[in-house]
Amino acid sequence: MSSKDTTKHPCFNKETAGSCGRVHLPVAPKCNIQCNYCNRKYDCVNESRPGVTSGVLKPFQAAEYMDKVLEKEPRITVAGIAGPGDPFANPTEVLETMRLLNQRHPELLFCLSSNGMGILPYLDDIAELGVSHVTITISAVDPVIGAQIYSWVKDGNVVYRGEKGAEILLDRQLKAIKGLKERGIVVKVNSIVIPGVNEEHLVEVAKVVSALGADIQNMIPIKPTQDTPFAEVPEPGKETVLPLRKEAGEYISQMTHCKRCRADAVGLLGNDQSVALCGTLKACAS
Ligand code: SF4
Ligand code: SF4
Repeated sequence: MSSKDTTKHPCFNKETAGSCGRVHLPVAPKCNIQCNYCNRKYDCVNESRPGVTSGVLKPFQAAEYMDKVLEKEPRITVAGIAGPGDPFANPTEVLETMRLLNQRHPELLFCLSSNGMGILPYLDDIAELGVSHVTITISAVDPVIGAQIYSWVKDGNVVYRGEKGAEILLDRQLKAIKGLKERGIVVKVNSIVIPGVNEEHLVEVAKVVSALGADIQNMIPIKPTQDTPFAEVPEPGKETVLPLRKEAGEYISQMTHCKRCRADAVGLLGNDQSVALCGTLKACAS
């Protein structure tokens, strides 16, 4: 278990969001599942949403970039990996990045955000490397609903579709929460609110993940994205999300200040500097 001050994570603790910042190091380009709302684009400074980054870094480049970011923004307290794909579709790069960060910046909190599909073999590594916060995105705990959200999941070289794929993914996700909590890691569950697909199911998600020990849930309204099966789904507003959070909050704490950040987000949540530091990232990537 990490002995660092875990309250200094601005996503898990709203009180520190004005004084503590985070950086996402984009070292994980591949993904092992396909969500129907996801369109990963690189080299893009005009969009702000998960999956978007100005570039992809190798582990040594990420460590150099981290040095430069801390020079420009010393309020950074968290180094996280949130794609642009999934950390555990790129485990070698992710674990190497975490090792380098541990050597160079042991004072930082380390954070990973994953779909949970490939995380189980790495739970001990995660704990040993001092990762204190992990997010698992779980938008359904029923494979019938999951089958509408994921077009496929990949287990090794085998691709599964439909309910079978959703069932395998869900099994890994639930085991991941349990295994992370057994190792003393703070667990957030991100749930994407998708009107017409899962909004009536998300309180059930809250109940299930809470029973496994998850610490907080983050209901994120879908941001419909071009060239995806969910491009035409309406973006849910407060009238949808607030009552859901209230009801789910009976079972698990709710995050209410998520900014749906890019995979190369940097700075305070309310003052993202990813576009301003895009040149720095690109220089490290080249
Ligand atoms: Fe995209 Fe993340 Fe889903 Fe992978 S897990 S398809 S990166 S949203
Ligand atoms: Fe925090 Fe939400 Fe941004 Fe993730 S996407 S870093 S949870 S504010």
